[in-house]
Amino acid sequence: MTIAPGATIGIIGGGQLGRMLSIAAAQLGYRTHILDPHEHPPAADVAAHVTRAGYDDIGALRELGGKVALATYEFENLPVAALDVLGPKLLPSTRSLAIAQDRAREKAFIEGTGAHVTPWLAVSSLDDIREALVKLGTPLVLKTRRYGYDGKGQAWIRDEAEAESAWQAVGEEAAVAEAAVDFAAEFSVIVARWEDGRHAFWDSPENEHRGGILRRSRVPCTAAVAAQVAEAREATLRIAEALGHVGVLTVEFFASATGPLVNEIAPRVHNSGHWTIEGSVTSQFEQHIRAILGLPPGLTGLTRGGAEMENLIGPEIERWPELLAERGAHVHIYGKGEARPGRKMGHVTRVTRQA
Ligand code: AMP
Repeated sequence: MTIAPGATIGIIGGGQLGRMLSIAAAQLGYRTHILDPHEHPPAADVAAHVTRAGYDDIGALRELGGKVALATYEFENLPVAALDVLGPKLLPSTRSLAIAQDRAREKAFIEGTGAHVTPWLAVSSLDDIREALVKLGTPLVLKTRRYGYDGKGQAWIRDEAEAESAWQAVGEEAAVAEAAVDFAAEFSVIVARWEDGRHAFWDSPENEHRGGILRRSRVPCTAAVAAQVAEAREATLRIAEALGHVGVLTVEFFASATGPLVNEIAPRVHNSGHWTIEGSVTSQFEQHIRAILGLPPGLTGLTRGGAEMENLIGPEIERWPELLAERGAHVHIYGKGEARPGRKMGHVTRVTRQA
């Protein structure tokens, strides 16, 4: 099914991803309708309609469903039962959401597709953590099963004495305990998949994190990562197919000595794909719109040979005058109010010539 320009697309969540999706949709002649509980979310500046409502507001979701041709979402911490009222109008479906929002379910699902993850155990008590320490050794990272992002809801255990404080640090909530990966690098595979199984990958960005938050993504990746991309793409495609995923799917990997290990999946456009706006012929945002609406796939090759995206986190956004003065730097400012530490306020992409 193809939905023609002029239609309105609902977007659940009005953060920077909803904003960049709205801009891409507008370029193709579509309007967007954002649903978000905040007063003036970043996407409100560029969307035709905004409904201020909670993500669990079934009445508001049903009303949105009645007004739009199709709906999508920009993040995964959403109540599945409420979003189910959108039925087949929601792409990707709530199946992708349900799996990606629970780390234990996600890991079991990934392993079920034949892809690899670091050894892990589901834990829900201090005793479980002690048992995990015996089975998995140290260091070990605890991550809450739900609602963690950008390193939040995570605590490292370097020796047994830290078990109790780590358990408290994650709020004594159901979690997964993961063995530390001694990785050479981190990278992601970003794919867009159509309902009929067509798909398109972008070059895999190599990602640099600091304090659990993405700092930089670069294409092309280094040789150490490039050697693992083919296997990681196969794993990503199996995951996308097993989910029946329609739209963009991002899978974050560790390049380990034994090959690519999946860290996590995001059933959506992703920060490590922001470079595609200027660095690729078709951006992840435009391709997501194309995939969910059944439009032809856009080309995903590099525009010039390489790109580097740098996040502007918290007060770093104050560098805007210098960045705007930098020739060739593509500055994106998300229009968020307060530049709190750790908050993603914008990003800058530098498109580079092939060496
Ligand atoms: P996450 O929120 O799961 O993406 O974790 C944020 C970042 O923490 C990752 O991108 C890694 O840099 C680091 N990290 C998470 N899990 C592990 C692990 N099992 N071993 C080593 N580093 C990790």
